[in-house]
Amino acid sequence: MMSDSVVWNKAPCRFCGTGCHLQVGVDKKKGKVVAIAGDRKAEVNKGLACVKGYHAGLLLYGSDRLTTPMLKKGDKHVPISWDEALSIVAKRVLKDPSGFAFYGSGQWTIPEGYAAQKFMKGGLACNHIDPNARLCMSSAVTGFESTYGVDEPAGTFTDLDKADVIICWGNNPAEMHPVLFSRIIDRRSRGEKVELIDLGTRRTRTTDHADHYMEFNPQTDLAIANCISQQLIANGTYDREFVEKYCNFRKDNDLSNPTLKGDATTFEDYKKLVAEYTPEMVSELSGLSVAQLQHLGKIFGDPKKKITSLWCMGMNQHTRGTDINRLVHGIHLLSGKFGSPGNAPTSLTGQPSACGTAREVGTLAHLLPGGRLVAKPEHRKDAEEYWNLPAGRINPTPGYHTVKMWEKFSTPSDKGGDIHTIWVQVTNPGQSLPNLEKLFYPSRKLDDKFLIVSDGYPTESTRHADLILPSAMWVEKNGMVGNSERRTQQWFRMVEPPKGARDDAWQTIAVARKLYDLGFEGMKDKDGKFIFAMQDEKGKEVPVWKWENYYDINVDKQLFEEYRLFSRMKHKNLAPYDEYVKARGLRWPVVEQKDGTWRETQFRFAAFDDPFVEKGKKIDFYHSTTNDGRAQIWFAPYTAPPEMPDKEYPLWLCTGRVLEHWHSGTMTMRIPQLRRAMPQAYVEINPSDAREMGIANGEKVRLVTRRGQLDLPAWINGRGKPPKGSVFVPWFDERLLINLITLDAHCPISKQPDYKKCAVKITKI
Ligand code: SF4
Repeated sequence: MMSDSVVWNKAPCRFCGTGCHLQVGVDKKKGKVVAIAGDRKAEVNKGLACVKGYHAGLLLYGSDRLTTPMLKKGDKHVPISWDEALSIVAKRVLKDPSGFAFYGSGQWTIPEGYAAQKFMKGGLACNHIDPNARLCMSSAVTGFESTYGVDEPAGTFTDLDKADVIICWGNNPAEMHPVLFSRIIDRRSRGEKVELIDLGTRRTRTTDHADHYMEFNPQTDLAIANCISQQLIANGTYDREFVEKYCNFRKDNDLSNPTLKGDATTFEDYKKLVAEYTPEMVSELSGLSVAQLQHLGKIFGDPKKKITSLWCMGMNQHTRGTDINRLVHGIHLLSGKFGSPGNAPTSLTGQPSACGTAREVGTLAHLLPGGRLVAKPEHRKDAEEYWNLPAGRINPTPGYHTVKMWEKFSTPSDKGGDIHTIWVQVTNPGQSLPNLEKLFYPSRKLDDKFLIVSDGYPTESTRHADLILPSAMWVEKNGMVGNSERRTQQWFRMVEPPKGARDDAWQTIAVARKLYDLGFEGMKDKDGKFIFAMQDEKGKEVPVWKWENYYDINVDKQLFEEYRLFSRMKHKNLAPYDEYVKARGLRWPVVEQKDGTWRETQFRFAAFDDPFVEKGKKIDFYHSTTNDGRAQIWFAPYTAPPEMPDKEYPLWLCTGRVLEHWHSGTMTMRIPQLRRAMPQAYVEINPSDAREMGIANGEKVRLVTRRGQLDLPAWINGRGKPPKGSVFVPWFDERLLINLITLDAHCPISKQPDYKKCAVKITKI
């Protein structure tokens, strides 16, 4: 029985981008989280959670929490004071601010990410800040931007309740976004007919529920998408009125140098370009049958069917990630399956605030808050005015994207390696970067390179860090995040962090203050005031850079209200902080009504719901890249991936997640129930391939790629693509680092690496 001292409060789940709301039970006497329940008032999850969500409270109570800053001396990390630690970080900045980089993630809360990017872009005049989200969803960003002129999905999860057909493009929501997936299953259990199509390269638990499993050869999703368009045009079933009223056509004339904006083309040219992608031709290439391809063409050509497409890493972690995103948007536009409930192309995110922080706050190296660009003079001017900075403070050159940042950090400074320090918060690059031997370890042998890592637990990154800073986690601090459907969510601190651990935003502000005290001009606004100056309700300045004062005021609220000004610049309007305290999240744009209430938006660009659509228009792409209210339908050809199986490396290697663990397992591997359920990584091999190689279930085998080797136990199951097809390795296990052997090739536009396909051979050991 629950004790009387247990108090319940709301918080979004710490893990995936579904953004389920949880009720967190805190025993006030013990000062501990003691229970978790799904939040029945939450529209996203309606009282449910998945196995990770129900165990989220335990993520705080692993036995090895970091509780003191530690500096590397020789081979050891030795404890130092917070004051010493902050001075060390400040000194690294002063060495050369332009060579100091910040690396975060979509696990930064909105205020944390906002503080970090203001510190870098407004303070250091240095744009070398990028999130781990670059590795997860930057191809989705470039897909949205080049199609609609602005990032993030038009639709929401509500479309899943209305669609007749749901297509998972290389996506496995049953295991990666389980509560979201349960919304689809729930409809079926109520007797509704929902057709589920699983377009993938390996069988998963999503496949178990699919009406159609369409297994394609890796990379041929590009050809499949073109084949759908080819059929819509050849059969005369595209939506001529929608296309003529609301769309333009686009392609990259120079395929060796593709760009975000590309080149204009015509419907006639587009028709010619897709003409070769007949079902027969694409069947040969992709491995799908002609009938399967024709089924896809038929449903998109059926005006009565409402279709929602879902995708995540399968389309984003792709060396042609921007192109495949564009093509899927293009199919929806060409068929008119856009802008009404149930008709939406919707990308999902893996991290709780990949949308809210990485994309909206603008912690990507080319962005400013609210979807603004560092390269645009008028956007920099707006930001300088909001931040009261001297004109010209913000650097006009986009910073290094993730792969480049770590390449530069791993290169000696006299050979062009101009990043001397990286400060990592809320992520674990020592496990998550691709091709670790190239991107992570080399810097650890270079004397003038310095790695700072803030985390709650020891990780592969902290083990190799020069300075470790202990962080507060989840409900040990106030927070706000934004899930995959533009829903901004808020929670309050419920328990104290372990003594010595500090909020990440505090760490950033405290370093900024050190720099200010040392006279560093970048931490002053144009009136000479500290750029993170904050007042209480009576207007008295509160020294929030001192930890003992940090919770005297609500720092999250102050940072959020400042950030909110930016949200109005691109129709991503946010409500005041207090509205999020009351709600279980609100989907932007949120606009005030005449009666003083705040209304969220379910579908952007559509008159039935979006407050910014011009009066009289049904659809209005008001951020069109062609400035004419139209979206762009792109053509992109199929090309082979940069590395394919051959005689020496005969199989495809795909990496990803498992249901029980999240990201690098830093939190979930410390939850006993989850660790027991999935204790270690493995290589999933199809039975026919295993038989041919003489490999038994559980036997240790060696995976070898052109970059290295790794020994793993084999799990012989029916998931991989036979024969001589694909194998899969999850990446959650820090003892078995699959990213030692993955490829760092990336999309030329989004710079997102491809973790889903490289060539591998397997040998018995
Ligand atoms: Fe948390 Fe995602 Fe599971 Fe929901 S589906 S409980 S957000 S991990």
